[in-house]
Amino acid sequence: MIDTRILEITAELARAENIVIVPHKGPDGDAMGSTLGLMHFLRDKGHTANVIAPNDYPHFLKWLPGNEEVIIYETDKERSDRLISEADIVFTLDFNHLSRCGTMQDSLLASEAVFVMIDHHQEPSDYAHYTYSDSTMSSTCEMVYKFIVKLRAGKKITPEIATCLYAGIMTDTGSFRFSSTSSDTHRTIADLIDKGAKNDHIHNNIFDTNSENKLQLLGTALQNLRVNKELRTAYISLSQAELDKHNFQKGDTEGFVNYGLSLDGIIFAVIFIEKENENLIKMSFRSKGDFDVNKFARAHFEGGGHINAAGGKSNLSLNDTIVKFNQVLPQYSEQLTK
Ligand code: 5GP
Ligand code: MN
Repeated sequence: MIDTRILEITAELARAENIVIVPHKGPDGDAMGSTLGLMHFLRDKGHTANVIAPNDYPHFLKWLPGNEEVIIYETDKERSDRLISEADIVFTLDFNHLSRCGTMQDSLLASEAVFVMIDHHQEPSDYAHYTYSDSTMSSTCEMVYKFIVKLRAGKKITPEIATCLYAGIMTDTGSFRFSSTSSDTHRTIADLIDKGAKNDHIHNNIFDTNSENKLQLLGTALQNLRVNKELRTAYISLSQAELDKHNFQKGDTEGFVNYGLSLDGIIFAVIFIEKENENLIKMSFRSKGDFDVNKFARAHFEGGGHINAAGGKSNLSLNDTIVKFNQVLPQYSEQLTK
């Protein structure tokens, strides 16, 4: 659809002065890379464009060009609400349902702006005037790149834009190794390097800035790893006490779930993380092949995502959540053992 309506969007942009760009709550590399990449592009075009994130994001993303410009809704509500109410266009990036913005949702629902969704999650909901949704895409950053190219503005990609988009494609593809990485993704990456993205610098800033506490927390997580060989499943749990012991900081558990998948023969990996202040257990699900963790998360843990990467939550205790997980798992034995 985006191709047939790109002229309409071009006209909307020509009319628009104030633009707000929103990632999902708990923004990851793709969410921050895509929103900041688009922000630079729109500012360069002369718009007043601001990124408003529903809440804060991890330290390993705080070097992205434009980071200091990001407004955090939770801590800057008044200014955010004003910008949203004044916006001519709101871009929502890297999510498929307004509820993924948390409490910011109400303010967005009240806005009269033209909404543009750019997202690669399955089953997009229908709130936007323009929906650019493609679940075959590696990342929203790859889609923002394509969006800029569709606007015939590929030549306007600066080193700042290229750096933001490269960072999000890299993080959402597990450094270009997930099956969502296509030859087209690599062509996009090649062009972003040509346009000034410094691949070694970006990789270093994201992956080689660990704290000792984070590595020791990983040690605890790996000690807690449990394996169900028969059902080719592995899971990790971290209690609030274990997080506290290692002075947990936002983002410290990013990527831990993937260690389960690195075990020979394992195709389904889960991490359960106790969040005492939110009174819930947050889960991440990852899979290899066609075991659909989006469906699994939706069916049992109020979540969703993609076929091979999804999230969910539970209001039971950590132990009871794990018990529930082990109880539902055998329902999937046919898919997990085939
Ligand atoms: P992560 O496990 O890294 O938090 O999330 C993996 C994928 O699932 C991401 O694409 C994320 O947007 C999505 N996701 C994570 N948690 C939830 C959730 O509670 N609900 C839905 N619908 N998607 C989620
Ligand atoms: Mn994404």
